[in-house]
Amino acid sequence: MSKVHNFSAGPSILAQSAFEKSIQDIKDFAGTGLSILEVSHRGKEFEKVMAETEQLVRDLLNVSDAYDVLFLQGGASTQFFQIPLNFLKTKAAYTDTGTWANRAIVEAKGYGDVAVVASSKDANYQFIPKDYAIPADADYFHCTSNNTIYGTQIQEFPKCDIPLICDMSSDIFSRPVNVNDFAMIYAGAQKNMGPAGVTLVIIRKDMHEKLANRHIPTMMKYKIHADNDSMYNTPPVFPILVSKYNLEWVKELGGVEAMAVRNGAKADLLYNAIDASPYFKGTTAVEDRSKMNVTFVFEKEYEHLAEKFDAACKAAKLSGLKGHRSVGGYRASLYNALPIESVQALVDTMNQFND
Ligand SMILES: *Cc1c(COP(=O)(O)O)cnc(C)c1O
Repeated sequence: MSKVHNFSAGPSILAQSAFEKSIQDIKDFAGTGLSILEVSHRGKEFEKVMAETEQLVRDLLNVSDAYDVLFLQGGASTQFFQIPLNFLKTKAAYTDTGTWANRAIVEAKGYGDVAVVASSKDANYQFIPKDYAIPADADYFHCTSNNTIYGTQIQEFPKCDIPLICDMSSDIFSRPVNVNDFAMIYAGAQKNMGPAGVTLVIIRKDMHEKLANRHIPTMMKYKIHADNDSMYNTPPVFPILVSKYNLEWVKELGGVEAMAVRNGAKADLLYNAIDASPYFKGTTAVEDRSKMNVTFVFEKEYEHLAEKFDAACKAAKLSGLKGHRSVGGYRASLYNALPIESVQALVDTMNQFND
């Protein structure tokens, strides 16, 4: 079978080497004669995997000792309530830049006042708001670095004097970030780090002292997971293993700096094709375009060509291009592991309409 080009928004494409190494470990994990799926997470072989995965996160993103690196469960969606449960004392500030940001806001409202300092909702989230004030008396400020559904991405993070917390689910490890600017970064793994089932949390240690005065269930305490090296309970062993192999691949290719170059080239290729095509148009403000999720639609007068285009995509084995229902049209997700050849295959298919 020839290669399927995987543009899925998540769970998404991963490095082929991550699959191959993981398959080996399902059969015989680290010479134990047992499968990774049946060994104790407390054995020295898996403890090594855990330590190596943490070290890869620290190396790739330059995470200092002032931060804990945690591997949790429940997805980014659990962070939507775990964050306010822990840190919202009276008021928190949020930007509303898309579906996921909005879900985070909805959860926070259950714990205190939420100041939505900026929103592009009225414009169907086509841009990232930039001029807004972050209230100095809020307990933290929450933003979403990349809006997976709408195809916008923060290019420059706001200056913030209160703890800055960011949902980086769909662009973590795609570009360098200055972790020291953040009190906490979190990401569901399945967009750009690994398979579904593990959530990465990078949290500055001083946040453990900033807890709201309410009952916090043990499993919801970041400090518990930090004190137990993410092994307070059974961690998601297999997703962590696959993430490790995927991050090793990122490192081998030159780390997040190299990923940014690679992802930039892919995004340029596709956006240039969209802009040059009389048939297609992008759906977002040009300066806020995401390098991870490229959203585009047919120009109104060419919408009748959609069926033909969909058939051409299918014939060219272009998979996962259907836009989210709230935007329509198409969404090409260009996560780290997607090769530029796949983007070229998409561009070639789009250009078939030009003659
Ligand atoms: C996918 C996604 C989520 C939800 O992640 P889950 O791990 O499925 O809970 C949250 N935020 C962003 C930005 C996402 O892309």
